[in-house]
Amino acid sequence: MDNKLKDEILELLWSMREKGIKSYAELINGVNNSEASDTLIKMEKSGLITISEDQVELADKGESRARDLTRRHRLAERLFHDVLEVGMQESEETACEVEHFLSPSVTDSVCSFLGHPPTCPHGKPIPRGECCSRYKSEMRPLVMQLKELDVGSRGRIVFIVPSEHSRLERLASMGIVPGNIIRLKQKRPSFVLEIDETVLAVDSLIAEEIYVKEKK
Ligand SMILES: [Zn+2]
Ligand SMILES: [Zn+2]
Repeated sequence: MDNKLKDEILELLWSMREKGIKSYAELINGVNNSEASDTLIKMEKSGLITISEDQVELADKGESRARDLTRRHRLAERLFHDVLEVGMQESEETACEVEHFLSPSVTDSVCSFLGHPPTCPHGKPIPRGECCSRYKSEMRPLVMQLKELDVGSRGRIVFIVPSEHSRLERLASMGIVPGNIIRLKQKRPSFVLEIDETVLAVDSLIAEEIYVKEKK
């Protein structure tokens, strides 16, 4: 069986489910491969998916594989797009390749390096890994939440994960956009930062939403 096609189908099923879609026809459409229907039959036989009339769903075995693929894909997007600053299209294509071979421990290292980001650059949730629950780990991450930065340190903003999308605009108007350098001046009683010689106070929730790479 073509493993790449199988993986592609599992991933597509995962993202369709996020949108509440289980349609067989839509899946076939999305895969756009003449072997898709044959592969689906084989996948059902090997316990990866279940097919009933016009619906396809992940079975247990497919569920964990789809989860891992999605996690690796979305973490790779963060890595290439936000940290290595590769364009969105190329990041996406590269993510499609690396998702097939990143080992579990490398995946958790990438996740830790990136400060365990909750979403990909498209705003889709990144399935959590084991590393995410033992946050205060051995490794000092390359990218961290602003609140983890030491007072007096500077960091370059890598990405922002706002809990409300409307917040991005407000943050941007204060100069809080990826690429800009922030200095953390104080953490208590509130977060005070300096950006482009402007000093601002933000609440701790915002300090959790801004991910920075420390600048030495
Ligand atoms: Zn994405
Ligand atoms: Zn993690």
